[in-house]
Amino acid sequence: MGSTVVICHYHEVALKQKNREIFEKKLRTNIAFMLSDIVKQNMVMRGYGRLKIVLPFSYEDSEKVEVVKSRLRDVFGLTNFGIGVATSLDLEKICEASLKVLRNKEFKTFSVKTKRQNKKFPLNSIQVNHEVGAFILEKFKNEGHEVKVDLKNPEVTVHIEIVDKEAYVYADRFKGPGGLPVGSSGKVVALLSAGFDSPIASYMMMKRGARVIFVHYHSYPYTSYDSIEQVKQIVKILSKYQFYSRLYIVPIAEAQRIIVLNAPVGLRTILYRRLMVKIAEVIAEKEKAEALVTGESLGQVASQTLRNIRVINQIASLPILRPLIGVDKEEIIQKAREIGTYEISSQPYDDCCSFLTGRHPETWANFEEIFEVEKKFTWNELVEMSLAKAEVENIYADFLDKNIVEKIED
Ligand code: ATP
Ligand code: MG
Repeated sequence: MGSTVVICHYHEVALKQKNREIFEKKLRTNIAFMLSDIVKQNMVMRGYGRLKIVLPFSYEDSEKVEVVKSRLRDVFGLTNFGIGVATSLDLEKICEASLKVLRNKEFKTFSVKTKRQNKKFPLNSIQVNHEVGAFILEKFKNEGHEVKVDLKNPEVTVHIEIVDKEAYVYADRFKGPGGLPVGSSGKVVALLSAGFDSPIASYMMMKRGARVIFVHYHSYPYTSYDSIEQVKQIVKILSKYQFYSRLYIVPIAEAQRIIVLNAPVGLRTILYRRLMVKIAEVIAEKEKAEALVTGESLGQVASQTLRNIRVINQIASLPILRPLIGVDKEEIIQKAREIGTYEISSQPYDDCCSFLTGRHPETWANFEEIFEVEKKFTWNELVEMSLAKAEVENIYADFLDKNIVEKIED
């Protein structure tokens, strides 16, 4: 019997010629990363508007099949995928394969759905449906199991895809997450705290195909080391989607002290934010990233008013993307539960933003006042002194052997 395969589908409609090439290559590379401890990269193949993964174990090995399934559910760019077997272009073999993929299932009704890309195959799709359907009915009947064809609402569907040199047969079909393959849209730098929002904002950017570089600011030793540990754990979780991540850990206490010396208490939070943006832009340039990302959501806290957002933007030359701007906290928390950052983000942590800021930060900052304060120091100095002590850490998805990162490339 033919090999165990996964047949991966993606939406190509919106893809133009060149983009499609990039998209498919990235998707293939990313699947190879996601399954790097299970299959060799050359077992992930492109062709006929789909990707085929040849698995090195039998279709009956349900435990291993389960691992593959749970991994592929998190590969951005996949619309759906089927796990089954490949056969030669031979009706008898296709019938046998159909039986095989039904063996581990309990069902009373089924249907057969064939897609024939190879028009040279002697039977058309409808004829294949009929032949295979009749074969299944008879086999099950002989074994004493009465099953029926139900085209409208079948409990299982046998999918048959006929391409140039082989046919794929599967009855297990799963939804992928959609989106675009990570890396197909370029790079961004995300400002990551240990809170709920910025990890979800980063996740959303990855889902739209961006590779995310992370930067975390802290005021250690004035605040505890906890936020740093928490952020590392969050990056580990997020690395599931982009396999390996770079995290910049930047101490800003010294720069904050200079701001504190010069700014009234109400303006400090917003000045810290401007500092964060300034530093992130230097990192973005180094990393060749096109934009910054934050977890801000309109009106969620005092610092996230329209005016403050405007004041924060004013210091940036790169676009600041805010995927959560119109999203409610409830939804953000729901997503955090789904992807597994909730537990970490709900632990208390000292935030560098509250370093000597008092209880009432300015909610509608005034440009004149901000510019007045900023005359008393130079941003470049503050940025440089912070970056001079920055640490950079590479963090890998837990299933990934880091030595493999250089080996897998598109
Ligand atoms: P989050 O849940 O992401 O911390 P928040 O609702 O707590 O967001 P703020 O603390 O006002 O909001 O932060 C707004 C945004 O600024 C964050 O979403 C994040 O992108 C960025 N940010 C805040 N603190 C830090 C930090 N210590 N390091 C890096 N970025 C930060
Ligand atoms: Mg926060």
